[in-house]
Amino acid sequence: TAIILDGLGLANELALELKQEVNSLKVIPVLKVILVGNDPESQIYVRSKEKRAREIGINLEVVSLPETIEEREILDLIDRFNKQDEVDGIMVQLPLPQHISYHNIINALDPTKDADGFSAVNMGKLWLNEPNFIAPATPKGIMTLLDHYHLELAGKNSVIIGRSNIVSKPLASLLLARNSTVTITHRQTTNIIEIARQADFLFVATGQAEMVDKSFVKPGAVVVDVGINRTDHGLVGDVNFSEVKQVAGYLTPVPKGVGPMTVISLMEQVVSHAKMREENGAKSD
Ligand code: NAD
Repeated sequence: TAIILDGLGLANELALELKQEVNSLKVIPVLKVILVGNDPESQIYVRSKEKRAREIGINLEVVSLPETIEEREILDLIDRFNKQDEVDGIMVQLPLPQHISYHNIINALDPTKDADGFSAVNMGKLWLNEPNFIAPATPKGIMTLLDHYHLELAGKNSVIIGRSNIVSKPLASLLLARNSTVTITHRQTTNIIEIARQADFLFVATGQAEMVDKSFVKPGAVVVDVGINRTDHGLVGDVNFSEVKQVAGYLTPVPKGVGPMTVISLMEQVVSHAKMREENGAKSD
């Protein structure tokens, strides 16, 4: 049976290291989280970020805004945070209400403070292999997890199921940068099982509870389950865990797999910005 990739365990270890790093800084890392409306899922995600931030010593402030807020007001708020030197990261919890343009909001962020790395500037730098980009937290966390288990990507086939901007596309770029051969599949892909069975690394980000059963998986493959689905039998991934565990070589659980790695990666970006701020401050003293 598969070796379970322990995202929560690794995230806990990394949190301790980050906490020490923060203790050695003179500045306090600051993350602003903009939360629009009352989406219950978003509130759960924000709470898990708050918990991690508190542990590490990051000052995370949630700015809760009503569902009816105008785009202009959010843009003004972002502008203010962009200009405040002591703000290291800004993130806008998705989804946003229909009347607000996701693109306008995301691209208003100062790219160095775009803690989620979703802006066109960061995404462009990621695809162009330019230095100093911020990688989206979920794919970054996945790479950290694979590296921790010394899983070598070079020359291997990676198949991603799902083509989202926040997970799948940036993940494809990070995998390419590691010399993996990458295939992205999606709802319109006709022979998805056949393609998935070629994968040495199979990444699933569809939001379809337990859709990937063992027929998708080559024996011994590494299977990374990004999905988070609430069902009447609890929280499950996009992978049928008990079935796929029998054939995969490695498998991430849900919960305690990719989720905690996402949160810790976000915290890493914020601490790294605070470090840079301290160094720059020291230079101008
Ligand atoms: P999304 O919800 O934006 O899009 C889903 C993608 O899956 C689409 O590209 C679609 O074409 C594809 N898809 C859907 N059904 C399919 C099918 N039957 N066959 C093939 N492809 C199919 O994607 P997302 O934002 O990447 O989210 C995916 C899942 O990951 C969700 O469950 C979400 O909650 C979860 N998620 C988890 C984390 C984390 O930290 N663990 C972070 C982000 C998203």
